[in-house]
Amino acid sequence: MNLLAELRGLVAPENVIDNATALEAASIDESSLSPVMPAAIVRAFTSDEIQRVVRYCHQYKVPLTVRAAGSALEGSAIPCANGVVLDVSGMDKMIQFWPEDLQVKVEPGVVYEKLNEVLKRESLFFPPSPGGSSDVATIGGMVSTNASGIYSVKYGGTKDFVLELEIIDGTGKYHRLGNRAIKRSSGYNLIDLISGSEGTLGVITSVTLQLRGIPEGSRKAAFKFRSEYEAAQAVSEMMRYGLDLAAVEFLDRNVIEALNLLNNYGLEEVPCLFIEAHGSEQVLSSNIESATQIAQELGGEVLTLQGGQNPWEIRHYVTNAIKLRRPGYTIIRNDAALPISRLPEIIKYCRELADESGLLIHAFGHVGMGLIHALILARRDDTTEWQKGLDVNRKIILKAVECNGTISGEHGIGLGHKAIFNIEHAESIDLMRQVKRVFDPNGIMNPGKIFDQA
Ligand SMILES: Cc1cc2nc3c(=O)[nH]c(=O)nc-3n(C[C@H](O)[C@H](O)[C@H](O)COP(=O)(O)OP(=O)(O)OC[C@H]3O[C@@H](n4cnc5c(N)ncnc54)[C@H](O)[C@@H]3O)c2cc1C
Repeated sequence: MNLLAELRGLVAPENVIDNATALEAASIDESSLSPVMPAAIVRAFTSDEIQRVVRYCHQYKVPLTVRAAGSALEGSAIPCANGVVLDVSGMDKMIQFWPEDLQVKVEPGVVYEKLNEVLKRESLFFPPSPGGSSDVATIGGMVSTNASGIYSVKYGGTKDFVLELEIIDGTGKYHRLGNRAIKRSSGYNLIDLISGSEGTLGVITSVTLQLRGIPEGSRKAAFKFRSEYEAAQAVSEMMRYGLDLAAVEFLDRNVIEALNLLNNYGLEEVPCLFIEAHGSEQVLSSNIESATQIAQELGGEVLTLQGGQNPWEIRHYVTNAIKLRRPGYTIIRNDAALPISRLPEIIKYCRELADESGLLIHAFGHVGMGLIHALILARRDDTTEWQKGLDVNRKIILKAVECNGTISGEHGIGLGHKAIFNIEHAESIDLMRQVKRVFDPNGIMNPGKIFDQA
């Protein structure tokens, strides 16, 4: 079998790429995991082309990894050795727009930010922003990882907006899942199954999304607290009182220290909460006022920046501040999520682990949804320290699972979290393997991601 020649018979020959530079670029994603070299990249532009390539890979049992922007953080977009990378980033058209229904149908390669630029003309938007990757992440990639971000507190994650999907399964067969009805109670929810499946069940060829109207206004506020415990308690209370908040973000004292080092903000190095509300003037006032009252009752004070700058400005620089804090160090990241009431416990645990290991840990996250990023700094070239960092990372994630939480609330499992996937899903992993076999009997779709097909 001559893989390249045969692939060139399935799509325009110039869209089968095997030059070293392109293969190297496709061998990684944005995780810090090792590269894996594929044999070829196929650039697909139509559903028919995808179908031909998948059928071929199914027939000859060639591993196939779908790739869009490659911004995944847990290795889900890293291909298999000598496999095929199916690049769908060129499928970037809006197929149909129904502004009156607040719905849009797009090809999978449409970039999040570009979609919102177009939607804005009709005062609509697709809310689950993937943060710092909004300018590259594609809608297909976001569905496949069920991406979400700071505004998920109010709006939910990507899967909450998907009405209809067209997919090609691992045998090359076409399926249309769902329809344009918003309210439905009709059979198994296969859309939710595909959302977050990281390209292991099929290739998404179109996505129909439910949209939201751009809110009338937004207002932000920030508070500082004496302790992480009080800040976490305030989050719990704000959510318990049903405040209509779009974002509730937490930064621990180490993060504030990193921000001071980055930009000389002169901030008191104590934990902080950042909140944002969306809606009419009345909604904004009442929610921000109530949140302020709760924060103050729990020992919080309104945070102000010198010169009257918006305190949310510092939230924007968090990742960079941590990255630049210790040159030569690498970030070990996680994205565990747990019930809000258990936040104080995990934050305290991060501090204990930092003291015990001597490693710097920065905890922050979308705490309104119980999501915590605890970024650990360690030197990769120091084997002992690197291993210590990985052990600490594992302990934090296991603690979240022990608190009835999840290994990943945002970035997915990929290769990075695969070794501990069983801890969260021991009872259902066999069921997942059976589902995978139904969609992909020859196990060609992104094999080895999430779990191994035993
Ligand atoms: C700076 C930065 C900030 C980030 N912030 C966030 C954040 O706030 N929230 C968040 O959720 N994520 C975040 N991410 C992670 C990443 O951007 C998301 O996971 C994003 O959804 C990936 O989209 P992509 O187009 O890059 O997909 P890729 O990385 O190309 O692929 C991701 C996965 O989806 C599969 N896939 C892609 N397209 C398809 C398709 N058409 N059919 C089937 N499978 C497909 C791939 O096989 C792979 O398993 C961040 C990443 C970076 C680099």
